[in-house]
Amino acid sequence: MNYRHAYHAGNFADVMKHALLTLVIEHMKKKDKPFFLLDTHAGTGMTDLAGEEAQKTGEYQNGIARLLEAPVLHPLLAPYLDAVRALGGAPLTRYPGSPALMAHMARAEDRLAFCELHPEDANTLRANFRRDARVKTHEMDGYTALKAMLPPKERRGVILIDPPFEQRDEYARLVEALAEASRRFATGTYMIWYPLKDPSVSGEFLERLANDGPPKTLALELQVMATDPMRMTGSGMILVNPPFVLTERDGNGKSAALSLLDWLAATLAQGPGARAREEWLTA
Ligand code: SAM
Repeated sequence: MNYRHAYHAGNFADVMKHALLTLVIEHMKKKDKPFFLLDTHAGTGMTDLAGEEAQKTGEYQNGIARLLEAPVLHPLLAPYLDAVRALGGAPLTRYPGSPALMAHMARAEDRLAFCELHPEDANTLRANFRRDARVKTHEMDGYTALKAMLPPKERRGVILIDPPFEQRDEYARLVEALAEASRRFATGTYMIWYPLKDPSVSGEFLERLANDGPPKTLALELQVMATDPMRMTGSGMILVNPPFVLTERDGNGKSAALSLLDWLAATLAQGPGARAREEWLTA
């Protein structure tokens, strides 16, 4: 396991993933009933932007830093940016990962589980949340956690699956894990992040989900530059059972999610070819 998220924290992919995540959690909070949040590939929860890793790549400069400088913001970014500012300081010195955003937004009655397999990152994750009684951190495989922790007793939940894609079989594991998890807990909202590099690879992944995926599966994609199979030029998110806040359509028939992603494509563009798209894989 070579991947360390600190090099990439706050980049365009994190912005897309975390903006969507905060909207999904906001939606869950509309009902009084408690819910369960599971982060299968959690990372450490917080990255020091002045640290060696974040400074080495500077990726956050083309991500969260651009949003904080934007003169006008898309209205759907409010919950994300409120959380980032509350957790990361102003000026921003730290970038909150998905576990920190989840813990910040969850209520006293909600329950959270974070899994991380890298021993050092799992230790940092544990230390970051040891005082939060709602949170359980686990040094364990995220795919095993899906089997062990679903369905949640609350019968309401959001599951973020955010692997590093270091293994060749990651896509196949995802399709299998999602099918099994949704059999156990069909009404959960699943969010699976995937990179956009070689379009034939992500295309095959979407095709498999279209054939074998659970009902109500939506793919959202953000390209920040023209496709180049040799590097990550965009970021994708699979959403199973996406909430209405993302799927509702405006007078022109455009979904709220696509309106947000179009805005992000314009704001986070790193070259020609920046664009967004959505595709319902299963009805
Ligand atoms: N979800 C985090 C966020 O949004 O802030 C970022 C997670 S990062 C993309 C992926 C993490 O998964 C890495 O920290 C890596 O060590 C961890 N990891 C890799 N394989 C894993 C596995 N099988 N189970 C759990 N964690 C794993």
